[in-house]
Amino acid sequence: MSLSFKKTTLLFLIFCGFLFFLINVIEINSNYKNIKTSNATNSPQNTLITKDISNKPLIETDDSTENSFKNLKKPESKEKIIIVKKGQTFLSILDNFNFDNKKKFAIINAINSIYDLRELKVNQKIIFLIDKIENVEKIIIELNFNTNLEADLRSDIKIIKKELETFSEINSQEYVISNSLYADGINNNIPNQILIKLIQLFSFDLDFQRDIQKDTKVSISYEKIFVKNKPEYALGNIEYAKIIIKNNTLEYFKFLTDDGFIDYFNRQGKNVKKSILKTPIDGARISSSFGMRKHPISGFNKMHKGVDFAAPIGTPVYAGGNGVIEMVGVNGGYGKYIRIRHNNEYKTAYAHLNSYRKGISKGVRVNQGEIIGYVGSTGRSTGPHLHYEIIYQNKKVNPLKLKLPSGKILTGNEFARFEKNYKMILANHLNNLFE
Ligand SMILES: [Zn+2]
Repeated sequence: MSLSFKKTTLLFLIFCGFLFFLINVIEINSNYKNIKTSNATNSPQNTLITKDISNKPLIETDDSTENSFKNLKKPESKEKIIIVKKGQTFLSILDNFNFDNKKKFAIINAINSIYDLRELKVNQKIIFLIDKIENVEKIIIELNFNTNLEADLRSDIKIIKKELETFSEINSQEYVISNSLYADGINNNIPNQILIKLIQLFSFDLDFQRDIQKDTKVSISYEKIFVKNKPEYALGNIEYAKIIIKNNTLEYFKFLTDDGFIDYFNRQGKNVKKSILKTPIDGARISSSFGMRKHPISGFNKMHKGVDFAAPIGTPVYAGGNGVIEMVGVNGGYGKYIRIRHNNEYKTAYAHLNSYRKGISKGVRVNQGEIIGYVGSTGRSTGPHLHYEIIYQNKKVNPLKLKLPSGKILTGNEFARFEKNYKMILANHLNNLFE
């Protein structure tokens, strides 16, 4: 007897559930129609999207179905989302709600004390929480991806800036280049922003036109940052990047150094950034530094856009950094001249050479510290010396004052921490790729 009573109750509850579902569908439909019409009749500048965010009441144990349906029909609060349109002011947005003028200005003043409302941008999202008697209880302005400004209007106006909790997800991908690092990356759905970071990361090691060939393999892990309940995400850092060119593997891991910088190191703990030598010669003394001086031959005052190192003829001259020989040959007053391209930003030049090392020619790759030529006095020169230039973004800069990338090598405890860290990054990367 009691068992069959339970059964009928259960059936009744299922029936109620079905009705509840039907009513919701009808309600959603009618809401949808409302949106459409309200859009058409309202100021054409506004996009009003109405979404029911009330907690759906569970099926109640009340016998009176009529009553429970009444309860279901009225949501407790709802949100209206406004996407800021071009030329729209916050005041004009407030006009969509039932505030009197005094309240409108009180809200604007309160918000302006923390956030300048003139900085509202097109497509910025503002959420209005509205209670069951159509009063706005809260305004939420999305300031950026993970910061909201909340204006609580329930009694006094209270404004707070709220940092939203973020969580990150690591994305890992691998692809083979058939066209270019960038184009094939885009084809493999790697975000543009990440590809630009990847190119920067390898710019000290690779000459992208020359080195990257067909069938070069790229492997990358990068961070996507999410905020709870939002489909959008922000892109974070590259965690891991590897490029395999024929037999040459370049591999870098992200690491937060002891001094608090995020930087990239290979498995040996060597920093991706290669420093450029400020003195590409041994045992020389500076005979003329960078700056204005009276030219020893012309006698005119002229800017000296390099550093001169006096040294005996035949003293070896070293490559200031890893790179590719961009020019080698007689170059006017520079005499016998070599220029090395290190990456997109840095070049170095060596002038008045006596001779070039055997094998140094245009397009040849050289490593930092490798001999490229020998001190001489060719071109407009008064005596044996090396004229050395560092060219940064196509401008000659003072090598002695230039803040160069660190070229740091991790040691001791910091290296031990790095080693642990990179093994985790690698395990994650492989796990993501092959899970
Ligand atoms: Zn000089």
